Amino acid sequence: MSEAKLIDGKLIAQALRQEIAGEVQRFRQAHARAPALHVVLVGDDAASAVYVRNKEKAVVEAGMIGAVHRLPASTTAAALHQLVRELNEDPAVDGILVQLPLPAHIPVDPILESVDPAKDVDGFHPVNVGKLWSGKAALVPCTPRGCLHLLRTAEVPLEGSRALVIGRSNIVGKPMAALLLGANATVSIGHSRSRDLPARCREADVLIVAAGQRQMVEGSWIKPGATVIDVGMHRGPDGKLCGDVDLASARKVAAAITPVPGGVGPMTIAMLLDNTLKAALARTARS
Ligand code: NDP
Repeated sequence: MSEAKLIDGKLIAQALRQEIAGEVQRFRQAHARAPALHVVLVGDDAASAVYVRNKEKAVVEAGMIGAVHRLPASTTAAALHQLVRELNEDPAVDGILVQLPLPAHIPVDPILESVDPAKDVDGFHPVNVGKLWSGKAALVPCTPRGCLHLLRTAEVPLEGSRALVIGRSNIVGKPMAALLLGANATVSIGHSRSRDLPARCREADVLIVAAGQRQMVEGSWIKPGATVIDVGMHRGPDGKLCGDVDLASARKVAAAITPVPGGVGPMTIAMLLDNTLKAALARTARS
């Protein structure tokens, strides 16, 4: 049997980013301003600092305005709320992203819930979550949107297919399941308490793995001919990046699979750009 086709997230993200840059140019011509994303970074988590730098760079490359508000780890919840309020009210701001994790003394949910849903480019606000589950237009979390884009671009049939999402986080698993349901797949969600997970995986035509467990899913778990999207991101003992799926054994069984790195990862930033543009377009259409 031939090896699974690799779904090239790097290439697909590049094409999408080019398309977005073109749309941003048209937006700038039509509205005499550029869409603007404001990122709030509290504290000095090293990984977060890298993510934020990458986001800022990508936003600027797409022709948008990228602003970063860097606040010390000692920032109070009240001061952060005040900044979010100011960004909500500023007509020049289209997207607001509060980088997680926040320092332990700041409760996360009240902050995420204080972001104007129309500017919530992470799609974490309960209003956007509710809209997604009720099939209405919404700002949708970037990583699952990126996974759906990969499936669409690779022309994976979703309608009527059996899809299994492993992971039920609010950031990846649950919105992923909602998107697949919206695409008319028959969706199941697996998690740490699921019984017989390998057997459930073997029934899935489309398998999305977002468990945060290094190389948990092996080839023997996969239905021959299935499509596998690996959301996981880990640094192995050899220092190399790997996912939640054992790529070598999975490739022998699946028809198509995303590699790590170069699969889902590049799509997350591309979708952040798209969400910012979407928010800007929706806001200008309303004003
Ligand atoms: P969370 O830790 O929030 O959620 C993990 C989910 O997986 C939980 O629902 C958990 O179940 C489930 N799970 C954990 N262990 C098992 C197991 N042994 N069997 C079955 N289910 C299990 O993680 P996230 O959703 O935030 O992220 C998941 C992965 O995706 C991580 O590796 C993360 O690094 C990566 N990621 C990658 C991104 C990218 O851009 N490429 C972006 C975001 C995340 P339970 O609910 O029962 O605890």
